[in-house]
Amino acid sequence: MMDRLFLSPPHMSGKEQQYIAEVFESNYIAPLGAFVNRFEESIKTYTGSLNALALSSATAGLHLTLRVLGVSEGDYVLASSFTFIGSVNAILYQNANPIFVDSDESWNISPKLLKEAILKAPKKPKALIVTHLYGQVCKLDEIIAICKEEGIFLIEDAAESLGASYHGRQSGTFGDMGVYSFNGNKILTTSGGGMLVSDNQEWVDKARFLSTQAKEDYLHYEHKEVGYNYRMSNVLAAIGVAQMEVLDEHVNRRREIFDIYQNILGAYEEIQFMPEIEGSRGNRWLSTLTFNRTDPIKVINLLEGANIESRPLWKPMHMQPLFNATMVIENGTSQTLFEKGICLPSGSSMSDEDVIRVCDIVKEAIK
Ligand SMILES: *Cc1c(COP(=O)(O)O)cnc(C)c1O
Repeated sequence: MMDRLFLSPPHMSGKEQQYIAEVFESNYIAPLGAFVNRFEESIKTYTGSLNALALSSATAGLHLTLRVLGVSEGDYVLASSFTFIGSVNAILYQNANPIFVDSDESWNISPKLLKEAILKAPKKPKALIVTHLYGQVCKLDEIIAICKEEGIFLIEDAAESLGASYHGRQSGTFGDMGVYSFNGNKILTTSGGGMLVSDNQEWVDKARFLSTQAKEDYLHYEHKEVGYNYRMSNVLAAIGVAQMEVLDEHVNRRREIFDIYQNILGAYEEIQFMPEIEGSRGNRWLSTLTFNRTDPIKVINLLEGANIESRPLWKPMHMQPLFNATMVIENGTSQTLFEKGICLPSGSSMSDEDVIRVCDIVKEAIK
């Protein structure tokens, strides 16, 4: 049996252990330290955002955005329905109410349904959390215009889209705040971690304060409000700094992998790939496609038989038992995508031969 081909395994640059050794030499294992600062600086430089805050996860980052923007009990927060749960859990942490919005042909949130959701909301929503699904940018121009017009804060869940851009500008930097994830299978991994970015320094300072137990600026420990322990360790930041050095390479490789899939499988009428909207350059974190008639579970099982990992697309939030009683504006798009689609192995360490091997099995499955 060949080695297991994973969906999106970590891909190290080779520098990680050297930087971790530097952390140990300095003994700044914790708390924080020079690599946390370096990691924040490199994200600022890469994305063009004026401020960055390294955190224990993107979920923590999204929670902090809602706290900073004053979202609390009884408030409404709009969100893409076609996403991963980490995108929206923070709404529940704040005892606020999600309103889910379905997708359009871009697979990402539908601006048309977003408008409808705002009209139908029981009270004016405070914020929108929008996901750039699988590293492909959503229709930002239209969404920004709607949020501006309605006075709704825009939070970009860029957990999957680090390195993706729209009109040459990095995803995550368009909204009031943005969040990246460095979870185990993301395009850049620190084994676990996240980064909050915003051009608004006051908000990032406030998030930094809340992420360190909301400790007031006294010599003794003084607390006036509830905080969290959400910061990133210096050891993990060292991994992040090394990973940033190869981010562009890894984005390019993921895009190449997508191109091979598309060149081979795109010829089949049975298969449609996730699109890339005009003016955008996705990071193709995962290569994803839908079948017209083939049962995706059959394809996943055939790949599994060859020791290759693949997965169904995200199950939309409005189909989750957790959100049985939650408001949704839907048109059936994300449900159909979920029922018909799969994610193929897309790790930047894959060889061309690996990709071709996956294609051969998919071709066999759709026969
Ligand atoms: C991975 C992911 C998250 C959560 O990231 P963590 O760093 O694991 O908390 C949130 N949203 C989306 C869309 C994700 O894919």
